Amino acid sequence: MSNNILVVAEVRDGAIKNVTFEMLGKAAALAGEMGGVAEAALLGSGVASQADLLAQYGARKVYVADDPALETYSSEGYANALASIIHQVEPAAVFMAASATGKDAAPRVAARLGVGLESDCTDFALDGDERLLITRPIYAGKVIATVKLKSTPQMVTVRPNVLGAPEPDTSKTATVEKVAVDVGEVRAKVVDLLMAEGGEVPLTEATIIVSGGRGVKGPEGFGPIRALARALAGSLGASRAAVDAGWIDHSHQVGQTGKTVTPNLYVACGISGAIQHLAGMKTSKVIVAINRDPEAPIFNYADYGIVGDLFAVVPLVEKEVKELLAK
Ligand SMILES: Cc1cc2nc3c(=O)[nH]c(=O)nc-3n(C[C@H](O)[C@H](O)[C@H](O)COP(=O)(O)OP(=O)(O)OC[C@H]3O[C@@H](n4cnc5c(N)ncnc54)[C@H](O)[C@@H]3O)c2cc1C
Repeated sequence: MSNNILVVAEVRDGAIKNVTFEMLGKAAALAGEMGGVAEAALLGSGVASQADLLAQYGARKVYVADDPALETYSSEGYANALASIIHQVEPAAVFMAASATGKDAAPRVAARLGVGLESDCTDFALDGDERLLITRPIYAGKVIATVKLKSTPQMVTVRPNVLGAPEPDTSKTATVEKVAVDVGEVRAKVVDLLMAEGGEVPLTEATIIVSGGRGVKGPEGFGPIRALARALAGSLGASRAAVDAGWIDHSHQVGQTGKTVTPNLYVACGISGAIQHLAGMKTSKVIVAINRDPEAPIFNYADYGIVGDLFAVVPLVEKEVKELLAK
């Protein structure tokens, strides 16, 4: 067993997702304290050229499993390949994204290795014995637990957009090692991927998000919110109140029990600014709040605030945006 931490790169449509860089930054710092380094596993077909990018964010070595059978994600294929890489590499810990695929693959890999797994972790430190002290919200975020895994490698999935990515260092390079993996017999394969909401960027990747809360008053109230999101080429978010009311799907929920987001622009419409909502969006670069209550807590966090009825204000903002973009 080494003192290295292995980060499994999250790749979608041939591109490495930001959560990978966040994990590498943290893994490099922790492994450094343990006298080890951060390494990365890159799985897919035709992905080897991306190894340099992983080096820029802290990977000292990149294990590449380049296999046509790994072109599209499959539960069994990825779990088999990853378990095989981990057997060969023997890291102290394995970081995977708490994404749809990470959440699917990580428990399978842990079961194949016969080790424990902590899911959806939000922070890490080192204990005196160089084991990870893992921070993890439990009971729908009501309790924050600090956990230590007994087994090795210490396997975790990491919540996207929480750790923050380091600045890339373009002077850095990594050793690239091609690894042979046995993908094994794959009994179920992905035949199609359908994007929700007409190809909208997933919330965790979006640079612009327009969200609606209880103030939209019903499913049709999301009409102007959606229109503004489209005008800005952004994604659609929501508060839990709107999701719980059944006005919009849970996949749009921002907050402690929804997605954590860090867009350049977050527009909160008819959202009061409860701590559980703020927990998911307060690190957005620019926050705009539209609310008819001047005392709404969201204004304490907003860079720009508009006090008014969202049904009057949002269409005006949309019109302005369209006119500006047409220039
Ligand atoms: C364990 C736990 C986890 C939670 N997780 C989450 C989470 O992940 N995400 C989340 O969002 N919440 C979460 N919540 C719920 C959270 O506490 C709030 O209840 C919720 O965020 C409130 O949503 P809201 O702001 O849309 O509604 P409200 O608090 O009811 O606010 C509605 C706002 O709309 C404004 N408004 C009304 N009409 C208009 C109008 N016409 N024009 C303009 N403004 C208008 C009002 O002034 C008000 O400020 C969680 C709660 C718990 C206990």
